[in-house]
Amino acid sequence: MARMPRRAAWTVVLLGVVAALLFFGYEAAESPASQLFGATLVHGPRDRKIVALTYDDGPNPPYTTRILRVLRAEGVHATFFVVGRAVAAYPQVVRAEVAAGNAIGNHTWAHDHLVLDDRAQLARTLDRTQAAILAATGARTDLMRPPYGGRDWLVLDEVRRLGYTPVMWSVPLPHDWEYPSATTIARRVLRYVGDGSIIDLHDGNQGILCARLHLAAHVCDRSADVEATRLIVSALKARGYRFVTVPQLLALRRAQAVAARASHGRR
Ligand SMILES: [Zn+2]
Repeated sequence: MARMPRRAAWTVVLLGVVAALLFFGYEAAESPASQLFGATLVHGPRDRKIVALTYDDGPNPPYTTRILRVLRAEGVHATFFVVGRAVAAYPQVVRAEVAAGNAIGNHTWAHDHLVLDDRAQLARTLDRTQAAILAATGARTDLMRPPYGGRDWLVLDEVRRLGYTPVMWSVPLPHDWEYPSATTIARRVLRYVGDGSIIDLHDGNQGILCARLHLAAHVCDRSADVEATRLIVSALKARGYRFVTVPQLLALRRAQAVAARASHGRR
């Protein structure tokens, strides 16, 4: 093998370093807790035995309906970040989510990677989804979660301008979309849950209309998430946790901020 000239070798090393910096920089900036691109809700109060269960990518019958049944049996509420095209296809499922006391958030019309969008496209995908949510439930949402957690300054600025609080998550994703077993999903979540945690599970797959398309039903199979919900809720109840929706969690944070300001003023 011919020896590489020294200059070429250094160039290769330099390119490697630049690639690594870009990769780790991107990973750090896009990590769910990163606030580089603007404030997002990542975590609830860390001094309360509360957790928020959230679900993305539905509604996706029959799995969403089964999750609702588990939540009702356990007497707890969750927050569903719904995909607009699935809301338009299954409005009755979203109506049932709200009727049972759960909260709704906007997860775009077609599970778009928002970093690629300009302001007009951002407004269109969120407005269209909001209209579907309003038609299904009679109410609007002021919560949104960016698909893939993908965001930048423009995305978060437009999201806030449209009146939404962007919501991320604090418990590392259990990769439930790779079809692990329910016990694996529950174990991955329970390992990291703490006071004020936001848990992110999936009741659908990017808003794909499997029940309507009659094809690739396994693509939308979320039976493991149904069973994992049961396992997670009962384990956390045993640890003394109370379940709140994201709006309840935000209200609690606001109340704490007001109380902190008041006690500061007294001193
Ligand atoms: Zn998603």
